[in-house]
Amino acid sequence: MTIAVKNINKRFGEFTALNNVSLDFPTGELTALLGPSGCGKTTLLRCIAGLEHPDSGQVLLDGKDASDRHVRERQVGFVFQHYALFKHMTVFENVAFGLRVKSRAERPSESQIKKKVMDLLGLVQLDWLADRYPPQLSGGQRQRIALARALAVEPRVLLLDEPFGALDAKVRKELRRWLRRLHDELHVTSIFVTHDQEEALEVADQVVLMNKGNVEQIGAPDQVYNHPASPFVYGFLGNVNMFHGRVHEGVITTGGVALDLASHGETQDSKGIAYVRPHDLDVDRYTQGAEGIVVKLRRAHAIGPLAQLDLERADNAEIIEAVIPNERYSHLGLKEGETLVVRPKRLHVFVDEGSAI
Ligand code: ATP
Repeated sequence: MTIAVKNINKRFGEFTALNNVSLDFPTGELTALLGPSGCGKTTLLRCIAGLEHPDSGQVLLDGKDASDRHVRERQVGFVFQHYALFKHMTVFENVAFGLRVKSRAERPSESQIKKKVMDLLGLVQLDWLADRYPPQLSGGQRQRIALARALAVEPRVLLLDEPFGALDAKVRKELRRWLRRLHDELHVTSIFVTHDQEEALEVADQVVLMNKGNVEQIGAPDQVYNHPASPFVYGFLGNVNMFHGRVHEGVITTGGVALDLASHGETQDSKGIAYVRPHDLDVDRYTQGAEGIVVKLRRAHAIGPLAQLDLERADNAEIIEAVIPNERYSHLGLKEGETLVVRPKRLHVFVDEGSAI
């Protein structure tokens, strides 16, 4: 089934939760809706499901406007953060539920239900828990059962709203790898809501960055990470240093240091901000005449393979964060308070359009 939304608007009173959102969800792929709390991710998911009705715009299922189609007719499967499995039913019965409530004409036979449920429990690798009750399961196991239950009715689209949000970091990481493998096996078109950028970049085929009810960027994980369309996207997808400066003929000058924009090719004279990720900074000891931004090492945190350095700019006391291999940090033998020089290996400049100089 193809899924798309077209010019969707949704307000709650004066508040605009979705502002003219248009998106395609590629068939058989996993799309992550990513953005900060309150940006409209869940509202969009609920509009697709039919749990919420947009003020204007369309949800298109197989190219047809689904506005009049009830939730049950849309053939969607849900998994929510706090999915309420029926506590008084065994795991088996929870997964069988959607099949048992089908109309008589569509309901599979008892032996078909048994086979289907046990196949699904095998798929989520929990067939050994079939006779347990939900309170006897871990949080991660419950979410896998919730997924098996959503898949039982063979949904044409799977909607997941922060499905692992309530779990601890380690289980979360395991489950997202597992979800990816499961998706590769089943290829059900899936839409996954998360506010965790690492989760979205790791799991999804397509990432949709949302901000204040708007879509900021759509693309494959490496595309949105390496070619962010806006400062918001850049900042949301990881830690970032900002160097304010003047852009002129392919060079941004910040703190008296000229940084070549290489591929960026900006030619106009304007104010700009160079965005640099902490691991895209080269760090060296300061020597007379060394090129780069002069800083003082304020704090170093060197555990595991990477050393995180807090550096204070000599010219304006702003803090810069750099991440370098711990090996290099030890090799340099740096001490707190020492004067260093940093140079970006990679930077991305956003020109302030309104401020030509
Ligand atoms: P989170 O990550 O916190 O779940 P979200 O991006 O999923 O956030 P939504 O749940 O879609 O955000 O909510 C978007 C905005 O709309 C929020 O400001 C929320 O308070 C508001 N909102 C959502 N549902 C309602 C409602 N039924 N009535 C009024 N306001 C609502």
